[in-house]
Amino acid sequence: MLDKSTAPKKHLGQNFLKDAILISKIIEIANITKDDKVIEIGPGKGALTFHLAEKALKVLAIEIDHNLYEYLNEQAGESYPSLTIIEEDVLKFPFETIESKFKVVANVPYYISTPIIFKLMEARNKITDMTIMLQKELANRIVASPNCKDFGILSIAVQFYATPTIELEIPRDAFFPVPKVDSAVLKIVPRKNPAVRVGNENLFWAVIKSAFSHRRKTLLNSLAMAGFKKDMLEGILINAGIELNIRPENLSMEEWGKLVDELTDHLEYQKMRKSHDW
Ligand code: SAM
Repeated sequence: MLDKSTAPKKHLGQNFLKDAILISKIIEIANITKDDKVIEIGPGKGALTFHLAEKALKVLAIEIDHNLYEYLNEQAGESYPSLTIIEEDVLKFPFETIESKFKVVANVPYYISTPIIFKLMEARNKITDMTIMLQKELANRIVASPNCKDFGILSIAVQFYATPTIELEIPRDAFFPVPKVDSAVLKIVPRKNPAVRVGNENLFWAVIKSAFSHRRKTLLNSLAMAGFKKDMLEGILINAGIELNIRPENLSMEEWGKLVDELTDHLEYQKMRKSHDW
């Protein structure tokens, strides 16, 4: 016999929202109007989905679990013409092929929260705003400012392209089954332009990844371990007005920008000199 069970599956991060008051607060935060197209990630049993479908022009709900996909379709019946449910892994979904702009609403499965955030940031030009429920600890890392222990690559990855704010805290007992941690609702609004201008964005991300891969070390030592020459780096930090013993989590976005621009100039100068020498 086919398994049609909709009992929560731990490996798919299934913790279903059951608190009606919190559900209506999340819907309020999403601020959906009749002109909006909405993509919902992981609709589950539809705690948010049917409210969204009542408010939006269109809702596309992406659910990986076949049984929940069937259950949701049965529940929706003919009552929600604005709603389309697809059975798919959100990490494989081609957001870039959607033609018009859309909003994202998601109570995301915790086991893939970070890859989902990265995927959405890549699709940011198509997204008006995102209302996303995450583990509180992860939400804190995303909104963290420099000089704070939570500040890291995830904070920079989101804040470079968008403005994230924590809108609501959700206690763990608002879910069934009750997870081990509390959650928070984040609103992420993509910026028109990145938070700082950098000449070479690829180098910017390469430097940031190298810097944060040795968290306890100074910026200078982390970048030296990634293969940059230490004396060259010292000159670059001095030119950018950055202290030599600073740690990666203490740099502001502007300082990252300056550092990478100095490094870009230096590398270009080196390249030019090499070709002249030849
Ligand atoms: N939105 C519902 C709610 O608030 O009650 C369910 C949220 S539950 C935390 C996460 C949902 O994401 C589950 O329905 C799960 O099956 C689904 N899911 C897990 N991995 C997924 C993936 N890779 N792609 C799409 N949906 C996924």
